[in-house]
Amino acid sequence: MNIRRWLTGIIVFLLAPSLLFATLWIKKSLDDVRAVDHGLAGLAMIRDLGPLIRHRIETNKPLNVPQKLEFADSDIFTADETQRLQTAYAAFLSQTSRSASIRDARLIVRIITQSVKLSSITNFETVELTDLVDNTLLTVIIEASAMIRAGTHAAEKSAINLWDKMSIPVQGGQFKFAADEASRITSAHFHLLPKNKARVLKELATAYREANNRFQEAGAKLLMSTQDATRGSEIVVEPAQRAVQGLLNSTLTLWEGSIDYLVMDLEDHRNATVISVYVACAIGALVILVAFGLAILFGRSVANRTLEEFHKLGYHDPLTGLPNRRALKKTIDAIAQAAEGGATGLIQIDLRHFKALNHQHGDHVGDAALRATAEILIRISGDRDFVARTGGTEFMLLRRNIGSADQLCELAQTLTKAIGRERDIHGHKLRLDSCFGISVTEPDMAPGEQLIIDAGLATRSAKNKGSLAICLFKPEMRDTFEKNAEIAKDLQIALSEGSIVPWYQPQVSAISGDLVGAEALVRWVDLNKGVRFPGSFLPAATEAGYMEAIDQSVRHQAMRMTARLLQQSPIPFHIGLNVSANLLADPGCVDLLLEEVETAGLTPSQVSIEILEAVMIDEFAAAPTRASVASLSRHGFRIELDDFGTGHSSISSLRDLHVDRVKIDRSFISGIDTDPSLQKFTRALIQLARSLDICVLAEGVETESERQWLADNGCDVIQGFLISKAIPEADLLAKANRWNPAVVQFPRQQNFN
Ligand code: C2E
Ligand code: CA
Ligand code: CA
Repeated sequence: MNIRRWLTGIIVFLLAPSLLFATLWIKKSLDDVRAVDHGLAGLAMIRDLGPLIRHRIETNKPLNVPQKLEFADSDIFTADETQRLQTAYAAFLSQTSRSASIRDARLIVRIITQSVKLSSITNFETVELTDLVDNTLLTVIIEASAMIRAGTHAAEKSAINLWDKMSIPVQGGQFKFAADEASRITSAHFHLLPKNKARVLKELATAYREANNRFQEAGAKLLMSTQDATRGSEIVVEPAQRAVQGLLNSTLTLWEGSIDYLVMDLEDHRNATVISVYVACAIGALVILVAFGLAILFGRSVANRTLEEFHKLGYHDPLTGLPNRRALKKTIDAIAQAAEGGATGLIQIDLRHFKALNHQHGDHVGDAALRATAEILIRISGDRDFVARTGGTEFMLLRRNIGSADQLCELAQTLTKAIGRERDIHGHKLRLDSCFGISVTEPDMAPGEQLIIDAGLATRSAKNKGSLAICLFKPEMRDTFEKNAEIAKDLQIALSEGSIVPWYQPQVSAISGDLVGAEALVRWVDLNKGVRFPGSFLPAATEAGYMEAIDQSVRHQAMRMTARLLQQSPIPFHIGLNVSANLLADPGCVDLLLEEVETAGLTPSQVSIEILEAVMIDEFAAAPTRASVASLSRHGFRIELDDFGTGHSSISSLRDLHVDRVKIDRSFISGIDTDPSLQKFTRALIQLARSLDICVLAEGVETESERQWLADNGCDVIQGFLISKAIPEADLLAKANRWNPAVVQFPRQQNFN
């Protein structure tokens, strides 16, 4: 099901352009903030000039104590600008003429405003203020000062020449141009500024305009007197000299007020930009969260709807609520049609010993265990996975678009651990056993029915390996399966024709050589292919589910043979029967075996039940198997632990399991007479059994010196090619009849073959 991914895709598609624009907008806003910060730093420097200019205006003398202005330390200016600023600043401080000094101050202000691009960061309402600050108002001061200077200079002269007469109106004209421009700006543009914010500024503008009018009146007198004057004393300069100080002060105050207003305005602009970036980020994050939340909700509701549809259409398993095999197939088809790319993998999970669990604790516990398994699978599976219950104890996990099979093997391992963990189910502490088969398609190949078949084949392989086994499908498994299917077909016929028979391998006392029993080993007497050994057909029989029938047939024939043997030679003889784990896990097995023994005319004490050590100590099988074993033991059957040494039984498990005899595996016997390290180990095995009063049988004894070592080291009974291979019933009956321990000495192989 791809719905969630599609939805995510659509949302990302819709959000992506907005995110792109948002990112660009945020970047631009942050650039704006940086530019405003530069502007503010520049204005702060300009503002610092204010007191110096005021001092210069009031004293009309060069500034004796040079004040430091931090141009060089600022990263706003280029090296060239810094150089120009420092030169202008030095001139500003040292100029003797007031107007020249203020001209340098104006140069400083202009360098700064141009460097920080003040006019580009101010808005439509305040752009004229920039002009007031870096040009007009300072020009008013410069030109008014120059005009007074020219007037004063002329008034001090005895004779006035034409040059003197001309310089005053020229200065006056320049002053008037700047002063009128300042008046125009303050009266025409200031009304655009917000009332409250610009209240102080407007008052300063009014004061400036009044001072300007006063000065212009006095200036007019100066100009008029200059026109007719021939001597300096005729020039009326005093009124202008009195008015100029008021003008200069109010102009400078307006200049400072304009700077303050610009600072205030830029700070507002900066704060608004920063807040809008924060708000936009928060809203953006919220929108993304809401969009993804909606996608998840919508995806879920679609998924739920799909599940509901599955339910309606008979696509779900009512016990666990999971989709069923039909749903799995439909999903596989959908993946194939979508041609998503990548490989598709399937894990088949099969719970083992489930029949026994149901039998022992009741169906309600079994049901709860299945539900618990479903929950584990759902919990551990991811978004790409599809989990289904596809059979009684069988679950499947389908994963799309996987990188490699290793990924699924790791997932399977996590699942085995989670499923195998002890849990409380209706008051019973239970561990579930499972085995896993994994199949994976070739990369970019559409999955199909074969994926399910292959996972099934891998699971069969895992079942043969035992508890918690995980098998990855290999193509050879298909061949083996096909071969096994062929064998199983023939086996069915062989079973019905009676070609499946036990042969018997004698077991004799290690010391005396007395015949004490025989193990029934199954043989397929095939008229065409000769005698076939268990290794060649038992795996096929297990897969085809014929093991029960084979074992039962072997048991019947072996028990009947034993009854006959005991009739003809009444010796203490036990027949050894191999039983499968499945039989022992079935609580009905004790009754079945008792009935078989009785039908054959034997007592349970004449029958040895051979149980593989690995099966006995299998922790998952322990409870039902142990119960059967204990019951069989109580009924008098002899319990034997087969392949002893390979399953790592502990002393406590040997003691608790009612074992009468251990059969030491051939791998610990072959070469025992010569291999010191093997001797050490096997001696320990024998001693362990004997310390618990358990008899010891050595399997696979092939040489006389092996027998000798075993006899010397406390082994009771031996079985192996030294004595005899497994032989048909007639041979055993014939030879056992003639068996005379007093006469026949080791080796006796020839007696049986
Ligand atoms: P097992 O129960 O360990 O049987 C002993 C196996 O060792 C037999 O192989 C036997 O022929 C072989 N063997 C005995 N002495 C020697 C020896 O000195 N040297 C060597 N090299 N081998 C020796 P077989 O008959 O091929 O049986 C193989 C396995 O098949 C058995 O192992 C048993 O696990 C299983 N099996 C045989 N018959 C039955 C049966 O009727 N039912 C069940 N469930 N399993 C059976
Ligand atoms: Ca055996
Ligand atoms: Ca064995």
